[in-house]
Amino acid sequence: MRPWKIPPPFAMAELQRHPEFRVPVSELDVAGKDYDFPVRASWVRGALEGNEAAPAGDDGRLEVRLSKSGSDVVVHGRLRFELTAPCARCLEPSRIPVDEKLSLLMVPASRNKAPDVEEYEFTPEEADVVPFDGDNVILDDVVRDELVLQIPMIPLCSEDCPGMSAPGVSGADPTEDTKESVDPRLLPLLRFKNLKKE
Ligand SMILES: [Zn+2]
Repeated sequence: MRPWKIPPPFAMAELQRHPEFRVPVSELDVAGKDYDFPVRASWVRGALEGNEAAPAGDDGRLEVRLSKSGSDVVVHGRLRFELTAPCARCLEPSRIPVDEKLSLLMVPASRNKAPDVEEYEFTPEEADVVPFDGDNVILDDVVRDELVLQIPMIPLCSEDCPGMSAPGVSGADPTEDTKESVDPRLLPLLRFKNLKKE
């Protein structure tokens, strides 16, 4: 199962109030138009609130071509961004480069009939059908979901990460040192014994 992480309600509300990736349908035509959005690291930080992954540093890029098809909008594009998450073994940052192709069919939510996907250049299995309000194509949720899907369940800085203990240290027998030590619960007794000796 995918580690589907839902942002807290306040973050969600913030995303909906100020869409980052919005194109009014009135701008679009059948031929299609290209859009090149910066994917701001600060926006991603907010969108991934509550998630252990965070922006690695630089802004990313969302390049999309939007074309109208009746009341639907066909979206083809590419999302590039670099995330980082703590390595599950050593807790050092592990890099998660994201470079994903997007193929979406935005369908007005009010329309009840199933989308007539045969007229598009992809099959329904290849494209995600996303409902929208019919007036504005907002890709915020799409971008966030796409980033969340790329975060591994167990992030690793490298496949052969040795973990927290440095090489060599892990070779020592951990029971070696403890043989001579006294159970702390017995310390008062030991002290008493030593007192008697004096
Ligand atoms: Zn590691």
